[in-house]
Amino acid sequence: MTNKTISHIIEPKLVIEGAGVLLRRSFGPHVSNKFDPFLLFDHFAFNNPLEGPIKGFPTHPHRGIETVTYMLEGTVRHRDSLGNAGTIAEGDVQWMTSGRGILHEEMPQRSINGNNYGFQLWVNLPAAQKMSQPRYQEVSADSIPVIEKDGVTIRLVAGEIDGIRGPVTEISASPLYMDVKLGAGSRFSLPIPNGQTTLAYVFEGTGEFANEVVEAVSMVVFQNDGDQLEVKTEAGVRFMLISGEPFKEPIVPYGPFVMNSKEEIEETIRELRMVRL
Ligand code: MN
Repeated sequence: MTNKTISHIIEPKLVIEGAGVLLRRSFGPHVSNKFDPFLLFDHFAFNNPLEGPIKGFPTHPHRGIETVTYMLEGTVRHRDSLGNAGTIAEGDVQWMTSGRGILHEEMPQRSINGNNYGFQLWVNLPAAQKMSQPRYQEVSADSIPVIEKDGVTIRLVAGEIDGIRGPVTEISASPLYMDVKLGAGSRFSLPIPNGQTTLAYVFEGTGEFANEVVEAVSMVVFQNDGDQLEVKTEAGVRFMLISGEPFKEPIVPYGPFVMNSKEEIEETIRELRMVRL
């Protein structure tokens, strides 16, 4: 096996979204589709209770994508046009396939400690599934497999590792999505097929990724080379590992919609005006 190497490291930028929510964004949807099949990675981090209530994301539409919300602390209340409502609590995951369309609201709430800490990943849908039926996969914290070995703790949201499968299934990009925590002095290696887009969002500690020292908070983008990911650490490190098969289709993003052509975006806007999503 040969080790993957790093292409570059992104320093997440602070952006304001929704009704005035401060986020750390590593990347957003862009016609260049550089992280195909992934479109966006946001890190919620409202850790100052003096900022007052979090304003959240009032009702908004999506089409042509999947949004994956993973909460580490605090919660997100959600409600949608299909009649679903609920709370994404600590350690829970919501995998929402917008398909042809959904309207929903997402309202982050602080934990008892005043924190709200979590991630939202957007995964593209291939052309053939952009207009599919919307659906949710709600995964409670206790149904996410925890794999512990040699000082490494993995919470496996999607994909397979050592014959264990994550609870989120039937995703077109067949992604690997996991929360990986390396204790002091540990190492981690994982086979990942050559050609998959592979990213590591380092959010705690410091580690050596493909022999380069990376500190939190950083998004590591790997080259499309090698077939094994190698990480080691002295003091400990925690990261979200994201990997998936590119669709290699053109994309046209427009706000919360990601389609394959300008005509499809125009059609989406026309339908939204008539609320026919
Ligand atoms: Mn949304």
